[in-house]
This record gives sequence, structure tokens and C-alpha cells, in this order.
Amino acid sequence: MRTYDITLTISPNIVVWPEDPPVNLERVSKMEDGAIANVSRIAMSVHTGTHIDAPFHFIEGGETVENISLRLLTGRAYVLHLPDVDLITTEILENANIPPRTRRVLFRTRNSEQWKKANNKFNKEYVSLSADGAEYLINRGVKLVGVDYLSVAPFNDVVPTHQALLEAGVVIVEGLNLSAVSQGRYTLYCLPLKLANSDGAPARAILVGV
Ligand SMILES: [Zn+2]
Repeated sequence: MRTYDITLTISPNIVVWPEDPPVNLERVSKMEDGAIANVSRIAMSVHTGTHIDAPFHFIEGGETVENISLRLLTGRAYVLHLPDVDLITTEILENANIPPRTRRVLFRTRNSEQWKKANNKFNKEYVSLSADGAEYLINRGVKLVGVDYLSVAPFNDVVPTHQALLEAGVVIVEGLNLSAVSQGRYTLYCLPLKLANSDGAPARAILVGV
């Protein structure tokens, strides 16, 4: 069984959402300076790298990240490869042959290719899911949607896709790197940090071949 690490590496160089603070990861205690141990501290947005959006991100009074069900975050998942798509719409999804009873869908798009590059500039032209595409997935009974850029929604219209998914109780995983993963079925393990009262949390996500 092959294991795929689909998590972005968090470092001060990682691309972040335009309004988000950059990652600050620094050693505050250094053995080379005589300390008994090395200790680092980190400051960053909870929406950095590979992460979960909790309902509270876009819904007042919505559920926060520590309460998202681990049963939704782990289990069978389908990776759909859409190499030539700019926006994932209902029409695209209707023609994509997603297997029946799929509960977790991860979209591999041209976004994933970008993670292989050293270039760390934010790209507004990333591939995203339209609001009608979100409704289509909800109606099919999908419970987790994963995307390979920093937002599930188009850059100029972030609210409708997020609100539709989060109001329907669909878990959103953003910032996946699916560049090494072929279309097909896997088992997903996605474990966000257990941050109290947070609108999101960074996660380690892996796929295991089935
Ligand atoms: Zn997010």
C-alpha cells in the first residue's frame, strides 16, 4: 500500500493568502548559544498551507474547528483529476464520472503543478469550485471537499461557495498538493490541529492507496 503525503511544507517561504500574515517560524532557544535545547515558536494564519475551514470561518455562530467530526476527516476518498479546467462547475462535475456514493472528493487541478515550483507568488487565477458546483456536490451527498490551492472558491467571489458547503456541513480542506496522486480511490487521513474556538486549523493530510 502506497502512502502519499499531500500536505504542503510550512516555512517562512510558503505562499499565503494576500491579506494573511506571513509565516514566522523561528528558534527562540538555541543550543549553539548555550541553551539546553532548541525551541521554536510559530506565528501564522490558521489558513496557512494545508488546512481545514470550519463553519465559523463564514457563518456567525458556526461550529469551530475542534468540533469537526474525525469520521468526516478520515475514510474513503476519490481523487478527481481535472487537468484542463479553470472553474469546477456543475457541468464539469456531471461529466466527470464521480463514482456513486462518493462522500469525499479531492480535486487535482493545474494548481497542484504550481506547488512543484520554487516560485512563491500568490496566483489569483487558481482553479476553484463555483457555487453551483458546490450545490451539485451537496446534492450528491458529498461530505468533504478538498482543493489544491488556498481557497475552494474563486478569488473574486469567495463567499457563496464557502457558505454553501459550510452550511451543508461539508468539510473544506484547502491547500492540498496532489501533484503526485493519480485519479482514483484512496483512504484519506486528514487531521487538523485541535485549536479551541478557531475558524480553521492547519492539518496533516495523507492518502493511502486502496
Ligand atoms: Zn481556509
